[in-house]
Amino acid sequence: MNYATSKIFIIVFCSIFMLIGGGAIFSALLAGGNLFFLVWGAMFFFIPLTIMRGRLKQLSTFEKMTYDWYKSEHPDHIQGNKVSCFSCGNARINVRALMNRTFHREHFCTQCGKTLYYSPEQS
Ligand SMILES: [Zn+2]
Repeated sequence: MNYATSKIFIIVFCSIFMLIGGGAIFSALLAGGNLFFLVWGAMFFFIPLTIMRGRLKQLSTFEKMTYDWYKSEHPDHIQGNKVSCFSCGNARINVRALMNRTFHREHFCTQCGKTLYYSPEQS
């Protein structure tokens, strides 16, 4: 799945919940402010909104901070296949898989801990 598809998927998925939530808030107001439905509706509305914003931001970061981006941004820190940290110059870069179903790996400096770039997980 590419980034544009993932973004559309998240927006559509969260919008469904937000519509349900919005509908619940609306009918609660029509019914004279039923507190239970107001709270329930607000939860359905704001939780997906928060998730959506977080995910979209994360996807944009993954999309932007690639190996190629790092190469063009810090050409001095790429020599052949060797990558070094733009911050401290250390050449020991480790990779860790990001949890939370992001399907991405983070390449980070073992010395200062800075994230250099991200790469998609090979499946
Ligand atoms: Zn470093």
